[in-house]
Amino acid sequence: MEPLADGGAWREAREAMVEQQLRGRGIRDGRVLQAFRDVPRHLFVPSDRLAEAYEDHPLDIGRGQTISQPFMVALMTEVLSLRGGERVLEVGTGSGYQAAILAKLCATVYTVERLAELSERAQALLGRMGLGNVRFRVGDGTLGWPEEAPFDRIIVTAGGPDVPASLKAQLAEGGRLVMPVGDRYGQDLVALERHGESFKQESHGGCVFVRLIGKEGWPE
Ligand code: SAM
Repeated sequence: MEPLADGGAWREAREAMVEQQLRGRGIRDGRVLQAFRDVPRHLFVPSDRLAEAYEDHPLDIGRGQTISQPFMVALMTEVLSLRGGERVLEVGTGSGYQAAILAKLCATVYTVERLAELSERAQALLGRMGLGNVRFRVGDGTLGWPEEAPFDRIIVTAGGPDVPASLKAQLAEGGRLVMPVGDRYGQDLVALERHGESFKQESHGGCVFVRLIGKEGWPE
């Protein structure tokens, strides 16, 4: 098995990403910034895109899917306000990068991906990295993970027409959910906080994500 190479040049590129793209644009949570220093993003990108691993844009990871722009991953993570003890549901495992960041910041990550090939690749990589607090599932994440609900936090890393009712139902009291909501071409990054049966809503600006495909998302 090849080593998880993470030499000086990668560390420098990562530090520059944290300073310029994250801190420079207003990411303030010190734990979030440290997680981005600690997780080698270049391990999550295809080998022919390695040179772009720390650049300021999303990258294709195959099957028409992407690893999101570093700033967007950081913003969504910061919006979750993680303190360390939370159980977090992620919909859209993709490359596994967001799951690895979350794994550094909470107790357990439950991540669901509809494409088995991507989930298996992410599972193998996170295993090799020694991140033992991530559980994987292949299926339709718009329906959540009912057997493990409620979740303190829910993060949806694909864009849907609305927040799925199943996900709202699986959010714990006082819990927070973040998700891109809009049409296929552009979305608003929405955060919800649950208080009983009502949900306080905030917007964190525009974004563009691949489609959330499933029973409570877009049709295939
Ligand atoms: N979080 C990922 C990362 O760090 O690389 C990026 C995710 S990518 C922008 C969106 C992912 O959501 C894709 O891998 C896609 O297959 C997945 N997806 C779309 N609809 C889904 C659904 N209903 N359930 C689970 N995964 C879904």
